[in-house]
Amino acid sequence: MVLEIIPVGGYGEIGRNSTLIRYNDEAVLLDLGLHMEHYVALTEDEDVVKMNPQLLMDHNAVPDIRKIKEWIPKIKAIAISHAHLDHLGAIPFLGDKFPCPIHGSPYTISVLKALLKDDGITVRNDLLPHSENSIFPVSKHIKLEFISATHSIPQAVMICVHTPEGNILYTNDFKLDFTPVIGKKPNLKRLKELKLKAVIVDSLYADDPRHTPSEAIAKEMLKDTLYGIDTKGKAIIVTTFSSHIARLKSIIEIGTKLGRKIVFLGRSLAKYATAAEDIGLVQFSKEVEMVQYGSKIKRELAKIKKPDEYIFVVTGHQGEPKATLSKMLNKKLFNFKPEDIVIFSCKTIPTPVNLENRERLESELKSEHIRIFKDIHVSGHAGREDIRELLHLLNTEQVIPSHGTPEKNQASSELAQEIGFSKEKTPLLKNGDLLKLS
Ligand SMILES: [Zn+2]
Repeated sequence: MVLEIIPVGGYGEIGRNSTLIRYNDEAVLLDLGLHMEHYVALTEDEDVVKMNPQLLMDHNAVPDIRKIKEWIPKIKAIAISHAHLDHLGAIPFLGDKFPCPIHGSPYTISVLKALLKDDGITVRNDLLPHSENSIFPVSKHIKLEFISATHSIPQAVMICVHTPEGNILYTNDFKLDFTPVIGKKPNLKRLKELKLKAVIVDSLYADDPRHTPSEAIAKEMLKDTLYGIDTKGKAIIVTTFSSHIARLKSIIEIGTKLGRKIVFLGRSLAKYATAAEDIGLVQFSKEVEMVQYGSKIKRELAKIKKPDEYIFVVTGHQGEPKATLSKMLNKKLFNFKPEDIVIFSCKTIPTPVNLENRERLESELKSEHIRIFKDIHVSGHAGREDIRELLHLLNTEQVIPSHGTPEKNQASSELAQEIGFSKEKTPLLKNGDLLKLS
């Protein structure tokens, strides 16, 4: 009997997450994501459809599945943990290479369908939604279980791979949020019951000694800001992650209480909101006007005579030059007035490109005398103390750090050792390694 973990992407780096689990001659692949920084650098001036898989692999923009070539015919399922691009964004390019269905929660599958449609790409894989906290067979000997988790996108799940030789839990990505603004709480009861050979653990903030606050706190931060300042006569512009449906829900609720109309401006906001509506998670289109494309946005903004009666929710929180916020400013799509309010309900993802873009955008906003409110945000990832809580809950033989740089994974391994795991039982894996569990 053979049970193995083969890291394909996302071990010792942040992005292009993918892990192969092998049981004898059957296998499953968990996640198939993009490395955003490498992908953006590569695709800036390219047509997405023309992106060929080899090129993407050569540039480390997607998991290098050439390393698991002999396994591909034996992969019985691809399971996606949640709908962030660093977990499913490689499917439009690589999905076709795998002769198996793709499983995900309903929201994850809904977003995947929207992405494929957007790019005009079809894949031959069946796309199969499963509700949270369900268990289903994918081959003769392997069952998958979706356990409800909390993160910064709806219906994120931890995936438990059940095999006759033992079980492996995959936790990318999670936080422990017991007051999520939308969706289920983490299913701790089920996590406690599992008997595990190994847990693959989200180590992004394993080096940060903190508990990550609940999404309810982000809502309070937004309220504290918007109810606490004099917004009379001022336009309010809020920018956040388009896939962060819970945050968007809070913005709508707070904006409505302020008596303002809410408008979503930008393609990706409409895409993720529609994916959520399609599965009945929210009904934003009843509460919000959505405008997707640049030319329409221009027209729509030109029609508005009293901008102080609105909250504009826009794309471009990382300062992306092609997103709505930058265009409102640079292409004069919007007539900013001094002391209008711009709220960044996000954190700058610290890549050189983002840092540069954000710095430029902020200095442009400042030169127009616009009030900037930054970091009205809580993270979607567990801090060190949340990872400790998870490890205390679980009954597992091994702890496998993932989703981090070598330093972050090291911190995660040290935490496991602090709790009592021997060094051998919390190994630091790299892409392309192989860990035998039996
Ligand atoms: Zn994520």
